[in-house]
Formats: sequence, C-alpha cells, structure tokens
Amino acid sequence: MKRKILCLGWVTVVLVALSAVSFSQTAPAPKKLKVFISVDMEGISGLVSWEETGEKGPDYQLFRRIMTQEANAAVEGALEAGATEVVVRDAHGSGRNILPDLLDPEATLIRDWSGGPLDMMEGIDRSFDAVLFIGYHAQAGTPDAVLKHTMNLSTFDIKLNGKPVPEAGINAAIAGYFGVPVVLIAGDLAVTIQAKEILGNIAVVSVKEGIGKAAKMIHPEKARKMIRAATVEALRDRARYRPYKPTSPITMEVMYTKEELAAKAALYPGTRRTGDRSVAFTHDDLMEVLKFYVTVTG
Ligand SMILES: [Zn+2]
Repeated sequence: MKRKILCLGWVTVVLVALSAVSFSQTAPAPKKLKVFISVDMEGISGLVSWEETGEKGPDYQLFRRIMTQEANAAVEGALEAGATEVVVRDAHGSGRNILPDLLDPEATLIRDWSGGPLDMMEGIDRSFDAVLFIGYHAQAGTPDAVLKHTMNLSTFDIKLNGKPVPEAGINAAIAGYFGVPVVLIAGDLAVTIQAKEILGNIAVVSVKEGIGKAAKMIHPEKARKMIRAATVEALRDRARYRPYKPTSPITMEVMYTKEELAAKAALYPGTRRTGDRSVAFTHDDLMEVLKFYVTVTG
C-alpha cells in the first residue's frame, strides 16, 4: 500500500515537473526588479515654507497630496520600467504624510518611525535593485536652497569622512551598505547638484530653484511627468549606477547650533568631542555609525 502511494507520488512529481517545464517555456517568469522609494517633503514641487510641511499649516493637506502624487509618478515610472515590487518610505516629519488611499495601489507604504538606524530608509535590504529619492532637499547651510537642513534644525552640518553631506548622502550610504545603487534624485536644484558631487552618476530631476528663501518652480503636473520619465530611463539604465560606499573606517561628525546638544551627544559611548558644538564617531561598520547618527540627531 505504501509502495503504491509512493509510485503515484512519483508520477505526480514527474507530471508537475513536466508541466512546470512547459509553463516555463511558454511564459518565462518576469525578471525581479525591486524598487525602494524614499520620499521627503521639502523638495516637492510648489512647496516653499516650513508652514507647508507640517500638520498645523493651513496648506499642509494640499502639499500632502502633491507629495503623494510625486511618489506616484515615481511608482508609475518604476512599473513602466518593469518593477516587480515597489516600496515607498514616507520619510518626512511624522512619517505619516503620504495619503495611503491616494498612493498607487501597486506600491507598499512604510509609515512612521521605528527608532532604528535605517531611519529615512526604513525597509531597505539586500533584496532591492534600485533606490529613488523624491522630494529631497539640500544640506544645512546651502545658499539658494529651499528649506535646507540636515536631519533637524538643531544641526548645522553633518560630515561623513570629513565632507559635508545632505541627508541624500547619508541615505545613499545606507542603500550602498545593502549593495543597492541610488539611480535618481528629485528635489530642488541645490540637492541635485550636491547628490551629483557625492554620488557622481545619478539621474536628477530639479522641480524648483531657490532664490534665497524664495523659489522659482515648475508646475506640479510638469514635475510629475519629468519624474515619471526620468524614473523609467534611470531604471532601464540601472546597470550604469553603482552603490555608494564610503571608505572604512567611517567617521561621522555632527555640528550643532548649541553647545549643550554637543555635550549631550558626547554621552553616546565611543563619541569624541571635536569642538564646543561638535562631536564625532568612527567605526568600520556603517550600521554602528548610523546608530550614533539616529541617537544624537533624533
Ligand atoms: Zn523632511
């Protein structure tokens, strides 16, 4: 009895295997393309003031919608380029800005903050093939840059291996840690210039240009078309882009606006004080540097 069952089992296995072979001949499985999109808000089209970026601002709801639409433009571009999975990380303020019901249903959304070291890149791992940054802004202290800052308004500079970096640089290093290249950045002109300086080869979409605190900008509809088209091109061309990996050991230096913030940050184990308002931390492992980063800038 057992033997008979075994024989039938083998027949089933052979039939299943044969049908799998014939299926694979007629309909090859699509090549995996997993895309991770980190979306900030300060660099979306139309937006120019802090008031517009937070829930107390009267126009916040309008800009949440525009932020969601710009994320959608990238999702649509990714799907057109053959993406098999798209993850969108809401990476601004509360982490709860993108309107879930208006986001492209094909995308998965990551909201709020875990408190972990991945921060604006929460959800990234080695299984992804490409990263996009949407709505990004320039680093603190950049002239003619819309809502420039790095992490928060209490830091006036963050350096990675001695060079000032915007959040885009830190987040690109997080992607690079997992072997994933950043292929496109959309935001104001200043951040696209900074991203090129750090990453070299990266597709850029500039949706506005700072004029001191003011800005000159294109229409949000035009911005979406540009983001979608640039996403398709960058993803189809993704072999051109390389993961960003700062050389080890990695030193991060954080400069604050107030001395007491540096004094508090210096309590993090392994941190050294580099000035009255600055601290630094060095480690071979970027993940350890990121734990320092989220703790002392959080
Ligand atoms: Zn932001």
